[in-house]
Amino acid sequence: MIEFRSASKRFPDGTLAVEDFSLVLPSRKTTVFVGSSGSGKTTLLRMINRMVEPTGGDVEIDGESVLGKNPVTLRRSIGYVMQNSGLMPHFSVIDNVATVLRLNGTPKKRAHERALDLIDTVGLDRALADRYPSQLSGGQQQRVGVARGLAADPNILLMDEPFGAVDPIVRADLQQELIRLQRELDKTVVFVTHDIDEAFLLGDQVVILDKAARIKQVGSPSEIIENPADDFVSAFIGAER
Ligand code: ATP
Repeated sequence: MIEFRSASKRFPDGTLAVEDFSLVLPSRKTTVFVGSSGSGKTTLLRMINRMVEPTGGDVEIDGESVLGKNPVTLRRSIGYVMQNSGLMPHFSVIDNVATVLRLNGTPKKRAHERALDLIDTVGLDRALADRYPSQLSGGQQQRVGVARGLAADPNILLMDEPFGAVDPIVRADLQQELIRLQRELDKTVVFVTHDIDEAFLLGDQVVILDKAARIKQVGSPSEIIENPADDFVSAFIGAER
């Protein structure tokens, strides 16, 4: 379980990105942060793996503060998938995935085998393993990004608008793939999107955010759809659907 405890982030230029945010993200469920641009979704996500340090409050994983953990070790134990896939351009597909395994101490041959397994897991054709990222479509790159995110076999997978840059058909495909993976792998997933349909499709728990990551409503998709908390939520759901 991940728990935000009155977490805040004010950037050095004075921007208050997250104000006093408290929430429990249950283990082995998918929590989706959804809100408009600048509402603080990415900042929240990055507090979990210490890519952003809170200026107030804390984030705990299974009861332990992330602030007491070595950031490098922490990041190796948490998968992170970004919008632009974050692949290393000069590494082949297989090496992009195997590198993460090597960093975690997997011997070379085993890392290669496991990387091929992960390429299968994310629904990518093994024949693409020796290509470079620039030789793949956007959707294929995102699949490699997900394979990289899963490489360290993390309990937690952070996904920041991972399907934002692909066309609607590929996006629908990737969403279904994630639903399948989540059924199979049972990870704690934290997913960021500004698309309410995507949030309702993927989330067990959906968190609707306003500026400075103020929680407007949190609940299951059906709870929110059947009982929007206020006009803001109704408008957000309505405007986006
Ligand atoms: P988007 O959907 O556009 O990615 P978001 O909801 O993920 O937005 P964040 O990226 O978390 O929002 O940003 C929240 C606020 O913090 C924004 O006002 C943003 O401009 C600001 N911000 C983010 N990073 C920094 C930084 N390094 N320095 C100053 N302000 C920042």
